[in-house]
Amino acid sequence: MIPVEEAEKILNKITYRPETEEVALMDSLDRVLGQNIFSAINMPPFDKSAMDGYAVASNDDSKKFEIVEVIAAGNVPQKAVGKGQCSKIMTGAMLPPGADRVIKKEVTEEKDGCMVLTGDDRNLNICYLGEDVRPGDVVLKKGHLIRPPEVGIIASMGLSSFQVYKKPRVGIITTGSEIVSPGQRLRKGQIYNSNAYSISAQAIQTGAEVTFAGIVKDDKTCIKEKISNLLAECQMVLISGGVSVGDYDFVPGILKDSGVKLHFDNVAIQPGKPTVFGTRGSTLVFGLPGNPVSTFTIFEVFVKPVLYKLMGYDYTPLLLKGVMKKDFKRKRSVRTAFVPVRYNNDGFVEPMEYHGSAHLTALPQANALLKVPTGEYELLKGSVVYVRQI
Ligand code: AMP
Ligand code: MG
Repeated sequence: MIPVEEAEKILNKITYRPETEEVALMDSLDRVLGQNIFSAINMPPFDKSAMDGYAVASNDDSKKFEIVEVIAAGNVPQKAVGKGQCSKIMTGAMLPPGADRVIKKEVTEEKDGCMVLTGDDRNLNICYLGEDVRPGDVVLKKGHLIRPPEVGIIASMGLSSFQVYKKPRVGIITTGSEIVSPGQRLRKGQIYNSNAYSISAQAIQTGAEVTFAGIVKDDKTCIKEKISNLLAECQMVLISGGVSVGDYDFVPGILKDSGVKLHFDNVAIQPGKPTVFGTRGSTLVFGLPGNPVSTFTIFEVFVKPVLYKLMGYDYTPLLLKGVMKKDFKRKRSVRTAFVPVRYNNDGFVEPMEYHGSAHLTALPQANALLKVPTGEYELLKGSVVYVRQI
């Protein structure tokens, strides 16, 4: 059994160079940039007004200004402003020659073609040419995850398509002679397949292209055939169930027979101790224990960071600092536990009522995992903890 940190170290060593492909701007959300985004232009592209108001010379101490022009956003000013003069200007419009200050509308009054000051506005209210970005600046780097602001930034650079990393193909197999698909009748001794769906959803949410190869009975030949098909097609293969020490847990042996090099097959983690990780060439294989909370947790802790790596993204989970709302205690401390908790906006962390790794219905109220390190038996009410957002 290896410590969680050791398993993470092994997974961190994996290197992968994903290929890139061209996508249209609106198809780029949640993808990872496969190129640097350079600016070809100044941002803003000209000195512009930050307010609706009147453009004047800043050294003009007149109280009344003749309005020589009205400048709408998108128009090019036709007249310069001199002493005692101003141009009425809208937010985002280009500043006229002679003006280096905009007096906001709220401290003025308009009368007989003139603007009269009624209050004081000391700000210059100008966004200057190139103050945000200069031509040639790298505005987004290769490997950056594209969220809504990034979509906007790329649009503001005038790009309608660009390179992102290709989505990794993840193959999923569920093993277990007791497993049936939702929609079918449940007979005695059977349970519904939840793992295939939860893992697929996690992989899709991370950004993968998923192939679900179906449910396989606990039969060596059937499992081997399914695994070898997926190994040939996918960058990552996730196998649910059959990795423990039961008489029908065939997966680790089959992986070895299929030419997969196992890097670990037992981790001091709770839930999910029998997790298996191996590689065949550049294909990564995880054997996930069948209990649904184990599968979910192991995906979050071990699979997700590696899957992001296949997408060209260097992922670090977000940790939230909180205070324990009640005591958490456990009887054994040989393994590092990940406990489903609720992080509340008041900063308190509340462990969920949780009956163990089969208790999938404990998860909907949880929004984070609390890591309880090996050697620690309790986290008492009031202690400061960092929880991992899920
Ligand atoms: P295993 O890892 O195959 O020993 O399975 C451990 C537990 O998880 C058993 O109670 C299984 O019935 C259950 N289990 C295995 N696969 C699934 C699945 N796909 N969906 C829901 N539960 C499962
Ligand atoms: Mg099984």
